[in-house]
Amino acid sequence: MRRALIIGNWKMHKTVAESVEFARALSGGFTARADREVAIAPPFTALHALAAILKGTPIDLCAQDVHWEREGAFTGEVSATMLLDAGCRFVLVGHSERRCFFGESNDDVNRKARSALRGGLSPVVCVGETLDEREADQTLSVLRRQLKEGLNNISADDIRRSIVAYEPVWAIGTGKTATPEQAEEIHDFIRQFLERVYGKELAAEIRVIYGGSVNPENAGSLMAKKDIDGVLVGGASLHLDSFRKIIHY
Ligand code: PEP
Repeated sequence: MRRALIIGNWKMHKTVAESVEFARALSGGFTARADREVAIAPPFTALHALAAILKGTPIDLCAQDVHWEREGAFTGEVSATMLLDAGCRFVLVGHSERRCFFGESNDDVNRKARSALRGGLSPVVCVGETLDEREADQTLSVLRRQLKEGLNNISADDIRRSIVAYEPVWAIGTGKTATPEQAEEIHDFIRQFLERVYGKELAAEIRVIYGGSVNPENAGSLMAKKDIDGVLVGGASLHLDSFRKIIHY
């Protein structure tokens, strides 16, 4: 039985004080549940402060990015060891904004995922097609390549600790959500890919979550689908009311 995973990605929003206020309020109203896990991904600057607030609560911390080296002359970058030290359990890798605005390749995503695993974090490997790719009927070939290259050389033991996030780029921040049926079709495709590489039994353990304009109205119907094991939430995770409704779906 896969536990649902709900992650709120705050992107470049919220000061430390705003993050602390939000985390206090969110954790105050949420008790541990066997069927779901919740994490928030604030900006790097708020991680350490939130680790103190969330300690002993059922809400985990997720970073939004990681570098592939452990340390060194990489100005502006943060390593997995540092993120673990700051209190993170998860880290997003290959978010479409990183791919689109910062030119991250599948190879970069793979190096980041493997460094996260080496450093003791669970990578949330994001994949998804653009609108042009969908309209050109390239969705499955794009996803197959992102998965093959992004998960390259990730061992069976490590894939157990990894999460795949299907985030169609056309649905991120646009208000256009994939229907539960559209999303399930792709999640099923991703599960089949994982089965071919890791075997049926192991693939059945790996969580594949959906992201793209998730809100309190659609979260439940998306997660009701067999292969949708949670949601990655951007805009709706910035507001206490809406994120609360989503985690209590
Ligand atoms: C995201 O940032 O991963 C995301 C899915 O954003 P939104 O929910 O705003 O579409």
